[in-house]
Amino acid sequence: MKSTKFTELTQEQIDRKWWEIGDFFRRNSLWMLMYCTGCCAIELPPAMTSAYDMERLGMGPMATPRQADVLLVTGYLSLKTLRRLIYTYEQMSEPKYIVGFGSCTINGGIYHDSHVVINRLDRYVPVDVYVAGCMPNTEAVMNGFVDLMDLIKSKKADGWKRYHDNYDWYKKNQEEALGEVRIKDEFHE
Ligand code: SF4
Repeated sequence: MKSTKFTELTQEQIDRKWWEIGDFFRRNSLWMLMYCTGCCAIELPPAMTSAYDMERLGMGPMATPRQADVLLVTGYLSLKTLRRLIYTYEQMSEPKYIVGFGSCTINGGIYHDSHVVINRLDRYVPVDVYVAGCMPNTEAVMNGFVDLMDLIKSKKADGWKRYHDNYDWYKKNQEEALGEVRIKDEFHE
């Protein structure tokens, strides 16, 4: 197989190589911010502690959005919490990923006909992995994490790019639900 010298690569090829290296390490070292909005959150303690021990996968909890790679949304979202979720997501550094946890994030679940609960999380922010169920058990949570890692490794965890590419569409949906969404607000000024 013909090898290519580093000096023969274009800048774009070099950038892509760096991303591949970054994805390799990122996949094995993910910091997760938990946005515990719903009852699904009760499955997180066994996932994080000795019963399932998510740290063995290279995942750990993170307290602030700016240092987190993964935003975990555990269940239903009211309009009030959706606004905070959008602010939180916008503060995270790229690349960043969202895991929607529980049927409520997929279709509103048992709250689907409530006037204060959104029905589809991915209309407002990009979701990379959904974990279905009401509530999903801890094995499903762990499988969801592994699925996310595999997507990162295969470069298919591209929700943050979709957010850029379709920003007007996301913004329109956010504003339809919430009215004005000022990202340059108390978190940024
Ligand atoms: S999916 Fe079920 S368990 Fe999870 S937040 Fe919704 S109602 Fe609660």
